[in-house]
Formats: sequence, structure tokens, C-alpha cells
Amino acid sequence: MNRASLMGSLLLLCCCLVALLIPIQALVDINVATANDIHSNLNRTTSPCTNFWNFACGGFSSASEYVDNFERVEDQFASAMVEFMESHLGENDTLAPRLIGQMRLYYKACTEDMRKLHGNPRPEELVNHWTVHPKKFLVDGLNGVFIDERVDVAANDSMRWLVQIKMPDPAARYSDLRVLQLMRLYEEEWYTWGVFELVEKMHQLQDEYRAQNPLVYTWSYSELRRQIPIPHSFFIELLGGNHTEEFDRLTFEVSDVEYLRECFRFLRDFARDPKDTYIRARQYVLVEESEPRERNPRSCIHHMRAYLPLGMNYIYDRFIYQNREQDAQKLQEILSNLKATFGKYLDANRLQLTTDQLAYVRAKLKGIQIRIGNLPEEKSPEFYNNHYGSANFTRTNFLANLLEALALRTRLQNAGLLERDSRVDLRHYYVNDNVRKARTSPFYENERNTITVPMEFLQWPLFDHRQHAIFQHSLVGAVMGHEMNHAFEQEGILFEAAGNESPVGLEIRESQAFRDAIKCAEQPPFVSLKERLADLNGLQLAYDSFFGLDHDSRKFEYRPYAFERQFTAPQLFHLSYAQFFCGSLPPVIAHDRDDERVNVSVGNLRQFAYDFNCETSHSTNCEMWRPREEANSNRNVHP
Ligand SMILES: [Zn+2]
Repeated sequence: MNRASLMGSLLLLCCCLVALLIPIQALVDINVATANDIHSNLNRTTSPCTNFWNFACGGFSSASEYVDNFERVEDQFASAMVEFMESHLGENDTLAPRLIGQMRLYYKACTEDMRKLHGNPRPEELVNHWTVHPKKFLVDGLNGVFIDERVDVAANDSMRWLVQIKMPDPAARYSDLRVLQLMRLYEEEWYTWGVFELVEKMHQLQDEYRAQNPLVYTWSYSELRRQIPIPHSFFIELLGGNHTEEFDRLTFEVSDVEYLRECFRFLRDFARDPKDTYIRARQYVLVEESEPRERNPRSCIHHMRAYLPLGMNYIYDRFIYQNREQDAQKLQEILSNLKATFGKYLDANRLQLTTDQLAYVRAKLKGIQIRIGNLPEEKSPEFYNNHYGSANFTRTNFLANLLEALALRTRLQNAGLLERDSRVDLRHYYVNDNVRKARTSPFYENERNTITVPMEFLQWPLFDHRQHAIFQHSLVGAVMGHEMNHAFEQEGILFEAAGNESPVGLEIRESQAFRDAIKCAEQPPFVSLKERLADLNGLQLAYDSFFGLDHDSRKFEYRPYAFERQFTAPQLFHLSYAQFFCGSLPPVIAHDRDDERVNVSVGNLRQFAYDFNCETSHSTNCEMWRPREEANSNRNVHP
């Protein structure tokens, strides 16, 4: 490298960025690679001003073999894990040999035993073989049959475990439809007609009693039994045989009470054979839905990520993940930056919060934690080695292993309930919910006031600790900004710093200024308002954190980076941010579609139009916490 280009790479763009400068020599390769990646995803036939997503990501599908950058990093994760599983690494491990052995057995059976349920036209033998305990369906991991049951924490005490009971989610109907399809294969049996009747009755009751915001009752065990005719045996089977007297210490949060009453009344008098058949068939469908569609090394890894998260994360963290320390340091830096900027927002107090309310929001902001990898704080090898100890996996029978894994997941979810006054043991806490596909994107939990960043996510092109700050603060910065803002949208604001629902939060949400602020996010129509709010506020927060409040690119002349000659710093920021959303637009369920998310977000960032020299419209931008433009320019008059 000649001196001139070295100097060029060392110079930064404007004085406000000097603090973020890192010696660049070691970074050139990863930065050139990142910039090249961004360029190869461009579609230059579109104007960034009219459809920014298409400009930034329109070339992705022809440039990449992947559906999106998520598939790309998940694939990298899977390759590394396949290599581990097929090696002898960790066999004589001194820390957690048993856990590693169990995970390898599961993987071997998944890749070597090719028997599967999916696509089997008449699964009689399998149904009888795999699902033998219609009465213990909940403890076997089958949920959403008659009721939805989960272990969660109390609304007013985020450290106390309790049992939530409500009617099944409407999505469970897909599984019922599959059951009825299976029943048609057995039409000659009398009890299949009973199954049709049962399913029809359940759906009818659910339609009749489903409410938008059902009342939630907090009951003791005996109150629950007084209110709803749930048989005692149901709980013995769910929670283990010898705990009857301990049930009285449990707390239940129960919603859809009318439905539950009618449902259990009906079940009490309903014939047993069709009831059992229905449960067995649902268990069969659960296994069918849970097994990987295609059985190969990678699909087995992806499956195990979702069903055995602790084992997979432990192995990846210990044997594969290289950069925990550097990554943690970078992410902490980004988070402190975001927090500092949000703190400045609160100084301006756009929502005119009272002193108490401001103190509440500040405490919550201060308390936001970040965690890399969905792993507990606990470090002792015994904990990991024994955590899956109650599961009996074999090398020869994958479907039996899958049933074991489902039951294990339920056991681990329930484990805290009857222990130690059912308090959450934070040292052992990690997310172990009923997902079928593991999370790759960071997520925020209200009850823990914590952002978890999965280790899968911390891979190039999404993130690399050696990248220039502009790549990190735009992409991971905006993602963390999004997650942080979940703490302050209309649902998250209800929870205080320690994760308990608070009247102060409710007061803020009910205030006129807050309601007006979220109203502007309602256009264009959205899939989820809180996701829309997190998107808008997250990008604004990340932008302000990197460029400073009230940044105006029209006032600066930018020198090029050594790794990027075409785009100016603010343009590169937006392009790098968009990489999170680049892909070939599949239908998305919980968020708006990716193109919509990007375009609405940049459309509400007032600087975007200046950064790309777009004609500015006079429509107002939707800003919630960010100080008003006028307020800013008045405050920033420097001598
Ligand atoms: Zn979100």
C-alpha cells in the first residue's frame, strides 16, 4: 500500500466521527470484502429515492446463492457444526463429555436412521409405536390440544415462575386438519367419527369464546380447580407424580375461562376411545411437523439448534466460536453509544414526561443488558454435562430421539416450577421455548430487559469485529436499536427496568403525547405496530448515534474511505443497514415485508433524502423519542 492510500484510509470524514476511528491497516481486507458485497447487491436501475430497498438489495438474488443473508450465516454455522459432529473432537472431553456424547448420538441417528413419518401414507404402525401415552400428552411435549399451557413469569414479578393456561392458538388448526386427513385413512374404525366430532366441537367453542383481549385471572391451584373442571390427574401427569401437595404453592394465570369451562365439561362426558385416538394422532402430527423435511447433515443441525438449544450453543461456543471477547467488546460499545443517544433524546423530553416518568424510562434504559449467545451465565461443567441427563438418546432410532427431545424440552421448562419457591434462577436461565426454527436474529425479552444476540448472527457479512465502525454501527447498530426500542414501544413500555409490569409504564402509554406519537406510525398499513415502531425508532437511534444528533450531510464534504470510493459515509451507512433485509422477499409473518420495512424506515428518517440528494417532500416524518428538528437547531448554536 502506498503512503497516499494509507493516509486516505486513515482520514475520516468529519470531526464528529473521530472518536470512532480505529487503526485501519488490519481492517482493509474485511472492509473491502464488505464494500464489494454491498456493491454486488445493488440494482442501479432503481433510484434510491423511490425504492431504496430495490436499489440496495435488488441485485441480491442474482448475486447470491442464498435466500438472504440469514440463510448464509446459518449455513456457515451448520457447516462448522457438521464438521464437529463428524469428527472425534470432544470425545474425551474433561468438561462435558456426556452432553457432547448425547448431542453426537442425536446427530448420528438423525443422519443415519432414514425412517421418517413425513410422506408416509398409512402410518398405522408408527402411530402405535411412537405414541403410547395419550394421557401424558402435555409432558410428552404436545401442546395446544384442548388448552395451551406454558411456564412463564408473573406479570407483577418477573422472578416468579407460574403456569399460564389459555385456549389454543388458531395456528393449531393446521395440525387438526392434518389429524382429520389421517383419520380418513381409518374410516372403517368407529372411533374416527368421534374424532371428527371432537375436533368440530373444540373449534366451535374456540370460535364462540375467542376474545380480543381476554381477562387474565391469577389463581391458586384450588381456585383453578373450583373454577374449571380440569381433572387433577392432568396436573399430576404434567408436573410429575409426587407433587400433589406442592400444587397449592403454584400460581396460575388463566385466560379464556369460559372456553376452558365448556371445553373440560364436554371432555368429561366424551367417549374415551376417540379422545385417546385424537391425542395420539396429534402427537403423531407433532412429530411429523418437528422432524426435518429432508434428512441431511445440515438440516439435522438446524433441527437440533431449535430443539436442543443448550447443547448446540455449548458446543459452538466452546469448540467453534472464536471471537467472543472481541465481539462482546464491540457490541457493548455499540450498545453504550445507543444508550447515550437515547439519553440525549430523554433530555429533550419530546413526550413531555413527568419527572417520575422520566426516571422510570431512564432506569429502564440503564438496565438494558446484552447477552451473546442463548446460554446461561452458569459456567460449571457439571451443569452442562448433566443438563440433558434425563434424556435417553440412541444412535439407531431418530424418531424415538425426537420424542425424547420434545419431552425433555417440556421437563426443562417445568423444572423451575416446583423448585425453590418457583423463583427464576438467573444463573441457569436461557430461552428454551417451543420453537421449530431457532432464532438467528437478535431478540429482546421484556421480563429480563435483555437483548440476546445469537452467535449465528455474529458472522460476516452481518458482523465482524474487525469491520470499520460504519458497517457495524449501521447494521448491527440498527438491529440493536430496533431491539432496544422494543423496551419503549406500546407493549414494552409497560415493563419497568426489572421486567415487572408497572403503573408508571401504563401512565406513559395512556398519555396523549405517547398516543399521538405512535399514531403516525400507523401509515402505511402494517403487520405489527410494535415492529413498525421498533424499525422507525431503531434506525433513527442508530443514525444519530453514529453521526451525532441533528447531522446534516448538506453541510459536509466527505472524503472517500479507502475501501469505498463511490458512496459517501451517510450513503454507505444506509446501504450497509439495508443488508440485514437483502434477500428474495419471502412472505414474512411477524414483520412487514423486508422491502416495505426498509422503505418505510428510511422514509421516516429526515436525513435520508439529504444523504441521497432526493427531492424532499414536506410530509412530516414519524419520530417518537427523537428531539424535534427545531429544538435541535436552536440548541446547537455554537460560537
Ligand atoms: Zn422486533
